[in-house]
Amino acid sequence: MDKLKKHIMSEGIGGMFYYHISRVGEEHRGLCGKQTMPTHIPLSIWGYRGHLNERYCQECRLLAHDDHIGALAVSGTTGRAIAIKAATEQADKKGRG
Ligand SMILES: [Zn+2]
Repeated sequence: MDKLKKHIMSEGIGGMFYYHISRVGEEHRGLCGKQTMPTHIPLSIWGYRGHLNERYCQECRLLAHDDHIGALAVSGTTGRAIAIKAATEQADKKGRG
């Protein structure tokens, strides 16, 4: 058992790209109590906003108290840095492909 994986990123059923956090084994309900669907998105990108205008449930984030959530994307600045990195990597692949 990987104790780091006690939470997963889940997606609200009501809105597109609105993410919650669920306990492992209770993937169909966010920590905030809303109905959700499980995803395979790593929690470390929590808070990242790309062109899909992803949104995140702040209530779940507060309830999780989980240090590995959003480690890479705690602010808009970091989110942009990730987006730039991803775009650069894609450009890299195209250039060498
Ligand atoms: Zn929530």
